[in-house]
Amino acid sequence: MDPVKGLFVPGPTNVPEAVRKAIDVPMEDHRAPDMAEFTLPLFADLKQIFKTATGQVFLYPASGTGGWEAAITNTLSPGDTVLAARFGQFSHLWIDLCQRHGLNVDVVDVEWGEGVPVEIFAERLGADKDRKIKAVLVCQNETATGVQSDVSEVRAALDGADHPALLFVDGVSSIASIDFRMDEWGVDVAVSGSQKGFMLPAGLAILCVSEKAMQASEEGGLHRCYFDFKDMAATNATGYFPYTPPMTLIRGLRVSVDRLLAEGLENVFARHRYLAGGVRASVLAWSLDLCARDPKWYSDTVSAICLPDGFDSGDLLRHAYRRYGISLGAGLSKVAGRVFRIGHLGDLNEIMVLSALAGAEMAMRDLAVPIQPGAGVAAAEEHFRNFAPAAIACTPQLVAAE
Ligand SMILES: *Cc1c(COP(=O)(O)O)cnc(C)c1O
Repeated sequence: MDPVKGLFVPGPTNVPEAVRKAIDVPMEDHRAPDMAEFTLPLFADLKQIFKTATGQVFLYPASGTGGWEAAITNTLSPGDTVLAARFGQFSHLWIDLCQRHGLNVDVVDVEWGEGVPVEIFAERLGADKDRKIKAVLVCQNETATGVQSDVSEVRAALDGADHPALLFVDGVSSIASIDFRMDEWGVDVAVSGSQKGFMLPAGLAILCVSEKAMQASEEGGLHRCYFDFKDMAATNATGYFPYTPPMTLIRGLRVSVDRLLAEGLENVFARHRYLAGGVRASVLAWSLDLCARDPKWYSDTVSAICLPDGFDSGDLLRHAYRRYGISLGAGLSKVAGRVFRIGHLGDLNEIMVLSALAGAEMAMRDLAVPIQPGAGVAAAEEHFRNFAPAAIACTPQLVAAE
């Protein structure tokens, strides 16, 4: 039998068969006269995912990192100050990208395992009487540490200081998996990518841009050409693109958006919370710690799990891959060697999560990590048996049993 490869990294995620089939189409003319009949409804439906009426969704051929670059080069000018917190590899990289573009980043360093320091943000915004801060960056879900932050609290801090700065959100590992509300939270640019909650291969940066951010891009910005919002907006208006779009991915996106909307966004979020709960029950039963320091930071899309001192998570990952054919997420940068991650987002059900937990459990036992045999899988099973959310499209039998 071919070895089954289990993909449990927090992106790329599993691509559903229907999405893979939608991608496997003959090449087509992206300037075909009927293309707008396909693209315009897709742009409209994507707005539902971002929960926006007035924002515009743009699709760039890029990974999430390109989305960050599009966000800042369109809206900020040389020497502008942005406020950001660093508490993991992804929040760090966005700051680094800003600095390399010549922006002045007011960095708040936070312990890895915590999230956005809203009180400190509120202080800095309140003290910024000259309105030097032009944008606030928020990593909604820090994928390196499994930490989720509350974007609405940052909006409240901006409003509390009556501060006009733009609000940018990195939602690459949260949008389409965890609740996100573009309009209600007053987000100006939201950045996502195709290979996480959208269940596609990597290759699309999916952005949502507010009217205020579009205005900022009219008035200023850094050097940009490929990522210019203006070119994208002008051609998208009639259903076309300023350059050759990756049509296969966009055909796949049509199907992934259909799936998300058919399941219902609130059900998608509930499923992610429910699957995350099973992983967290396992971690507790293993007597291991999450990297996230407090339940309020627990991520519903990825768990970063600390190994006891003396164990190298790199060894665990290599062993789990070679012996059991599963890919778990590595510890990145500051937490390299100390944590391993289980991605629980995208096209996933409880049986798939159990196989990740069983694989991790076996690999830990092989490496003599002191855990009780079977405890993690048993705890997750109990969680799944007891806490089926109201509607889980992929496991109808559980709903019927309620
Ligand atoms: C995956 C990810 C990114 C983007 O990474 P790419 O590899 O460029 O797609 C950005 N931010 C977060 C939080 C992520 O999880």
